[in-house]
Amino acid sequence: MRKIPFDKAKLEKIAAQWPTPFHIYDAKAIRENAKRLKKAFSWNKGFREYFAVKATPNPHLMKLLKEFDFGSDCSSMAELVLAEKVGNVGDKIMFTSNDTPAEEFRKAWELGAIINLDDITHWPFMLESVGCPQAAELGEHIFCCRYNPGPLKGGNAIIGKPEEAKYGFTREQLFECYRQMKDAGVKRFGLHTMVASNELDPDYIIDTAKMLLDLVADLSQQLGIEFEFINIGGGIGIPYKPDQKQMDLEYVGKGIEAAFKACIAERGIKPLKLFMECGRCITGPYGYLVARVRHIKNTYRLYAGLDACMSNLMRPALYGAYHEIVVPGKETCGDTTTYDVTGSLCENNDKFAIGRVLPLLERGDLVVICDAGAHGHAMGFQYNGKLRSAELLLEEDGSVREIRRAETLDDYFATLDFNGL
Ligand SMILES: *Cc1c(COP(=O)(O)O)cnc(C)c1O
Repeated sequence: MRKIPFDKAKLEKIAAQWPTPFHIYDAKAIRENAKRLKKAFSWNKGFREYFAVKATPNPHLMKLLKEFDFGSDCSSMAELVLAEKVGNVGDKIMFTSNDTPAEEFRKAWELGAIINLDDITHWPFMLESVGCPQAAELGEHIFCCRYNPGPLKGGNAIIGKPEEAKYGFTREQLFECYRQMKDAGVKRFGLHTMVASNELDPDYIIDTAKMLLDLVADLSQQLGIEFEFINIGGGIGIPYKPDQKQMDLEYVGKGIEAAFKACIAERGIKPLKLFMECGRCITGPYGYLVARVRHIKNTYRLYAGLDACMSNLMRPALYGAYHEIVVPGKETCGDTTTYDVTGSLCENNDKFAIGRVLPLLERGDLVVICDAGAHGHAMGFQYNGKLRSAELLLEEDGSVREIRRAETLDDYFATLDFNGL
């Protein structure tokens, strides 16, 4: 049974102030995890994690992560503004977008963000978007390209195979683009890739770093440019299922350190900074969706209908993803009964779990859905007039703070004008 940082009495107290459903994040666990990540890569001078804002776009969590000097990985205007609001500007922003609009390039440029291009055509497009800057000005900004290794690297179910993925440059295009950038006056370079999502094999992450290091050596040699960093992207997985293991970050750290040393010794490259832009493994395991059983229904199957629905957490509906479910107060009752755990959306895939064996449930029981701290609330939507829930932060002293209020019907109707109907 998964350990959760609150018991039934504590949750009932919280729910008395913030009605279910709500998301709640464990500040202490997020801090401990951030410390562990930093330590695993502390051998690298200049190491930085850029938290993937899209995973949990809440400025209070971003600010908490800033305590550990985490930057922000942004991919849209809203995410750039969030980074700016928490004081992450300049090289604290990695702007990794795709199919990018001109105004977002402009905003990233104004903020002094590291601009990570997704395509060779984005180089002239970006220049035009920011007003065709002179060589001297370009020389002050940091640019990066996103490499798509195509058939050289296998993918997985969430992100797909690299060769079928819409992201990034081919190898040939990289050489061409860095040459164009150098000719235009760019002096500060990085290289990026993002080939995995929810990957639990540590060697896959190490191999990704090796691949980038090799490429940096080739690019540096052929083009006569120096790189400041490689960014291995996000994609470190978390153990959603009880039989899965947490990624051994210390092993990954050591493996990448060895790869850096080897590449410096064998290929003669200068020492580089290591960047990553993880989202899931930073907050995922430390966020919980708390809901209440609204109805028990017994037809061809037994259903537990919650007051949450897939607009609070759509991963199970979207990917068939598994999320552990804990019933506080019934931990010792034994898992005796098989349920489909559903929401109230008019979509039959609105299920948090299918055929899950749980303690006997009753109306009013609190139910905690685990590992909802990344790509959870963030993926919410309003289909069927479902409103997005509140987000709460469980502080280290046990107090609870609201970090986003629940939406109201007024929020839902805010874009409509009922006058003149
Ligand atoms: C989604 C995404 C991330 C974060 O991925 P996680 O699986 O949450 O670590 C990082 N970088 C880019 C470009 C992304 O699209």
